[in-house]
Amino acid sequence: MKKIDELHLKARELTDLNSILALLQWDQEVMLPHGGSEGRAGQISVLSSIVHRKITAPALGEILAELSEKPEELSAADLALIRVMKREYDKNTKLPEKFVAEFSRLVSQALPVWVEARKKNGFGLFLPLLEKIISMSRQKADLLGYEEHPYDALLDLYEEGLTVSELDPLFTDLKDNLSQLLRRKLSQQQKPIPDITAGMPPMSVRDQVRFSEKILQEIGYDFNRGRQDISAHPFTTSLGHNDRRVTNRFRPDSLEFIFSALHEGGHALYEQNIAGEYAETPLDEGVSLGIHESQSRLWENIIGRSYQFWEKYYPLLQELLPDQFRDVPLDDFVVYINKVHPGLIRVEADEVSYNLHVLIRFELEKGVLEGAFAAASLPALWNEKYKEYLDVDVDSDANGALQDIHWAHGSFGYFPTYTIGNLAAAQIWHKYCLFDPDYRQTLVQGKLDRIRNWLTENIYRYGALYTPAELLEKVCGEPLNSMFFIEYLKNKPEFSL
Ligand code: ZN
Repeated sequence: MKKIDELHLKARELTDLNSILALLQWDQEVMLPHGGSEGRAGQISVLSSIVHRKITAPALGEILAELSEKPEELSAADLALIRVMKREYDKNTKLPEKFVAEFSRLVSQALPVWVEARKKNGFGLFLPLLEKIISMSRQKADLLGYEEHPYDALLDLYEEGLTVSELDPLFTDLKDNLSQLLRRKLSQQQKPIPDITAGMPPMSVRDQVRFSEKILQEIGYDFNRGRQDISAHPFTTSLGHNDRRVTNRFRPDSLEFIFSALHEGGHALYEQNIAGEYAETPLDEGVSLGIHESQSRLWENIIGRSYQFWEKYYPLLQELLPDQFRDVPLDDFVVYINKVHPGLIRVEADEVSYNLHVLIRFELEKGVLEGAFAAASLPALWNEKYKEYLDVDVDSDANGALQDIHWAHGSFGYFPTYTIGNLAAAQIWHKYCLFDPDYRQTLVQGKLDRIRNWLTENIYRYGALYTPAELLEKVCGEPLNSMFFIEYLKNKPEFSL
């Protein structure tokens, strides 16, 4: 058998195993009775180690090395397959099994302690474990290797090729512009924005499900190759080329379900529209977390919080949830969903503040990894930066340095992908608007297939064929640039209705 065919066989087997793993995890979040959780954790761990053994097999390493010697004989798709599999192989072989086991033990120890510390509002409880996580993350960076900054090794785990030297100027632009913009928007928002959910009759789960399914259909989510279920935290997962599922959560008094549907729908549209030729290969997924997030944010925020989108779809919301929205004018609704309100919590942040939350985490992660300061000083620095960038006073560690799960999870390097997503979304949207100068009409008329087709043509269909940087360069003609996002916010009319 030719080496490339051998690689295809292995790729297919790994992809199928990962889909089965995803199914076990989806079931764990959506269906599993509480009593089954211990057994399921065992099953997931067994399957994960089978996958690990296969991706680190020396035979796979040899095939990859041999194929890399004669790249001129291979197609672009095969070269991309080798690139993606070699990344996985390297990531997994560079970390010794003992280290991986120790790290995952540490994380499972840290998670309940973090929950407890957050509940009791005591950073000190979590500190000893956080110190170990930071020291092991530094070791991890050394094992993975880097050229300039240890943080680069961790960033690359989530966003192929991303470095501190690339991120620094992007975040500097954001820092200089966003705090200022935030102050300006706040002073423009002179009259208080009425909370349209206050006093609203509770929304039933059934009505919310109906609306979210309808809006998913409208953006082009294919229910024949996917489904929407309920979970504690909304997510999107892929169980195969023709099975991309989303989840949502439905509270009686929160509009979050609308934006979660659009957010997860954006992730799922990306994956549902990858070319069939990549099915059952590692190319059959979004190329990186950042690019993936650009697609969810584009549908959730840029499209889903625009006046024109709601000109078309607000009547539908009013029709399906009449008791809640019949008497709320469209303008009030649009102003409410675009309210700028700097606060303590990242996941509740508006579009202007959001990336300042990420910036703070980036500065702290980078500093603590390079040893510029100790883990013990994180809460104080956190509070200082929140005052400086967002002008808010942090009232407790629970609402401060303990609010996110990421550190307890050992996921240093993950946060910046959120901002990459927001920046890339605005940059890609700018390009779309050049293609479709009547984009406002497109939205008002609900011709969302026009947008989806353009995204499919330029982004979705490629899956992981190109690296994130190559893809962005191909779509936009230049590397990631924060100015498109800043301009988008500065000119967004919905903020000053
Ligand atoms: Zn997302």
